[in-house]
Amino acid sequence: GGGIEFNNVTFGYSPEKLVLRNVSFNVPAGKTVAIVGPSGAGKSTLMRLLFRFYDVQTGAILIDGQNIKLVQQQSLRQAIGVVPQDTVLFNNTIFFNIQYAKQEASDEAVYEAARLADIHDRILGFPDRYETKVGERGLRLSGGEKQRVAIARTLLKAPIIVLLDEATSALDTHTERNIQAALARVCANRTTIIVAHRLSTVIHADEILVLQEGSIVERGSHDQLLQRV
Ligand code: ADP
Ligand code: ADP
Repeated sequence: GGGIEFNNVTFGYSPEKLVLRNVSFNVPAGKTVAIVGPSGAGKSTLMRLLFRFYDVQTGAILIDGQNIKLVQQQSLRQAIGVVPQDTVLFNNTIFFNIQYAKQEASDEAVYEAARLADIHDRILGFPDRYETKVGERGLRLSGGEKQRVAIARTLLKAPIIVLLDEATSALDTHTERNIQAALARVCANRTTIIVAHRLSTVIHADEILVLQEGSIVERGSHDQLLQRV
């Protein structure tokens, strides 16, 4: 399950200025669609609508054929896992930070999620350096390592839909390449929407939508879009 449909979605934070205009697309269950566009194009707004932080003004968003207006926000939050660009972590162990996604999860399940995200070797460390009476403690996780914690959280939560925010990717090419396997695991067999600035980060999407000023101006596979630009 988890197929997503945007039908002629129009939205503005104020009536004078529309932020999304007649946006239509669908993500078949288990497939990956990437939304690529410059800052201010409306990508974050689109994600907020999917969570019902705001409701669409015209058109509809459906998940598995059901209008999300009929779904409680809490159920949406359970169904959707987010891997944000900048993961904010608690000043507690990586283990704690992963288990936070599903507090009833067994220790084994938390370790397994950490292993699949390849962050298990840090699991009892704290994410930041901090002072104690006997000196400095803790780790200093890189951006990529924090993203691995977010991936582990999402693997543990096992949502039917994953939102992956690559929009402000601060990762260098080397880190990005290293993290691809973990990202592929979290998206595998789940309906996935990737938000990104650059085509190069979304090679594996089944379809790519180019969003500009709230409208979809191009769509196609990675190779098709490369030939057009
Ligand atoms: P993107 O994620 O592609 O950078 P956004 O969805 O954040 O784009 O923004 C789209 C447009 O909506 C921008 O013009 C932005 O300034 C505006 N916008 C975003 N969030 C709000 C908000 N909470 N209130 C008013 N305007 C907003
Ligand atoms: P992003 O590109 O990730 O959306 P932004 O820097 O555009 O990040 O926005 C950061 C936050 O500021 C967002 O949560 C958004 O709600 C808010 N925001 C963006 N534009 C506006 C705006 N014009 N008016 C009010 N809030 C805004």
